[in-house]
Amino acid sequence: MTEAKNWLVTGGSRGIGRAVVEQATARGDRVAVFARKPASAQWTHPDRVVEIHTDIADPDSLARGVDIVFERFGSLDVVVNAAGVHRGGRIGDLSRAHWDEVIGTNLSGAFELARNVAPRLDAGSAIINVGAVVGFRGFPGDVAYGAAKAGLHGLTQVLAVELAPRQIRVNLVIPGFVDTDMTSALTGRARERILAAIPMGRTGLPEEIAQVVVGVADSPYMTGSVVATDGGLMSSFSSRR
Ligand code: NAP
Repeated sequence: MTEAKNWLVTGGSRGIGRAVVEQATARGDRVAVFARKPASAQWTHPDRVVEIHTDIADPDSLARGVDIVFERFGSLDVVVNAAGVHRGGRIGDLSRAHWDEVIGTNLSGAFELARNVAPRLDAGSAIINVGAVVGFRGFPGDVAYGAAKAGLHGLTQVLAVELAPRQIRVNLVIPGFVDTDMTSALTGRARERILAAIPMGRTGLPEEIAQVVVGVADSPYMTGSVVATDGGLMSSFSSRR
């Protein structure tokens, strides 16, 4: 039997992050969850989950949260950065406040997380950032979100190279369109257009993304990689909308 691992999953309270927590705990691992609010539902294995109410956009809150994780677990094997917010708006419409919120959470939050965990990670551990197709393809109305996710790609590559000599891996998993709270606001014609652009013709399930995150966490020679799990969206995405 393999030894149980210790995970930290930001944004683990619901959506994609939550599915990662459920899959990790199902195999006997322990998971610390960062989110501002309590989890959306009961855990299947509540004894293997520690919820730490943390705002990853606030560097002090995040640093405190990471300290608590290391006090509780002693060490971390896998760090998944799945926390994120989406605020839509084209260049003429997006407010500076929304820009700051999206960059502060999705990009600066990832930087602060890495800054706090990296010095304490051991050889063999892994960081997985959760990106987005719009970090690679121009999607109108995603000025802030697209910029943050593109930045996350750059951050992932630099961290992969900087941490590789210590045998710490850093990868980026790219979900396609997944039905979660984040995407629930997208309805009607906008949703139909996205669906029409997905070659597999359907949205993804949080569990399908989580399966890939777990696979990446377990891949000992993978670092700096971009792993899309998107029903083919990256291959077909057109910005003409
Ligand atoms: P979701 O259901 O809205 O969940 C977002 C999670 O992030 C929640 O746990 C939320 O908890 C947490 N979070 C947000 N702001 C936070 C903050 N400041 N501090 C701590 N936690 C925070 O979203 P999702 O769809 O699962 O998205 C998960 C990740 O996948 C995100 O990075 C998202 O950008 C990415 N993604 C999603 C899709 C999709 O189609 N759904 C596609 C591509 C990429 P609290 O609100 O309680 O803090």
